[in-house]
Amino acid sequence: MTDSAPKSHGRLAVRPTLKPSELMTNTPDLAGVWKAKVITLFPEAFPGVLGESLTGKALQDGKWQLEKIRLREFGEGKHRNVDDTPAGGGAGMVIRPDVMGNAIDFAMNGAPQDRAQWPLVYLSPRGKRFDQATAKRWSKARGITMICGRFEGVDDRVLFHYGIEEVSLGDFVLTGGEIAAQAMIDATVRLLPGVLGNAESIEEESHANGLLEHPQFTRPAEWRGLPIPEVLMSGHHGKIAEWRQKMAEKITQERRPDMWDAYQAAQKTQKAKK
Ligand code: SAH
Repeated sequence: MTDSAPKSHGRLAVRPTLKPSELMTNTPDLAGVWKAKVITLFPEAFPGVLGESLTGKALQDGKWQLEKIRLREFGEGKHRNVDDTPAGGGAGMVIRPDVMGNAIDFAMNGAPQDRAQWPLVYLSPRGKRFDQATAKRWSKARGITMICGRFEGVDDRVLFHYGIEEVSLGDFVLTGGEIAAQAMIDATVRLLPGVLGNAESIEEESHANGLLEHPQFTRPAEWRGLPIPEVLMSGHHGKIAEWRQKMAEKITQERRPDMWDAYQAAQKTQKAKK
């Protein structure tokens, strides 16, 4: 890491509204630092993989924050029930709107009202598919609240009432929203300033510029009879950049005709503007 930002921000502000159990598991609030609030039935699943490597180090260094909101604590009765059978019958259980509503009210208390500043998202296979542009948009907000569903999902009135943005990790069905939340937080956090050591690597990688990335190689120079492409060993930066651009275009064209069409259209309008 080349970043030399001080570890302590010197602006810790412990909010007196936190319940004791939350004080034990969540770090105190760092004013102005991007924060993910995650509503989940499985708080032990967090930070999960986000606690490792670059995102984990950044979390420790206070470059982003995580607040787990335990849906179970908002449950009803002795057993803290959060779900009930689906209206109209059918298999499975549905998360109750009153329980989820109270958890959302708690999460959004004190967060900016403007959703551009603080998106409120439900992880859902019915949502708009998550992509790099969404990660970029979220990284520019002050934080985000994510709702992880379980069972058959949440009562639809909650989504309507709060005007919740539904976002999907892809066209498949997971058992719960937690893995999707971690994937999306990872993609967003690595775009925050100072999280990755090398800001250039963000600009060049897949999806950043509408192309998939060129192939990567490292030593040894020859492995099982396969050499590294000669141009990469030439030390000629101009030629290397040209080769990488060509490879990125070739791979995008072969693997993602949809991206290739969009890329070419964007190039055309750019040329027309000049
Ligand atoms: N009955 C629902 C699926 C429920 S899956 C349906 O058919 O649409 C249980 C939970 O897993 C969901 O509430 C959601 O939070 C999460 N989930 C499942 N697939 C997902 C995906 N592709 N992207 C994001 N979250 C997903």
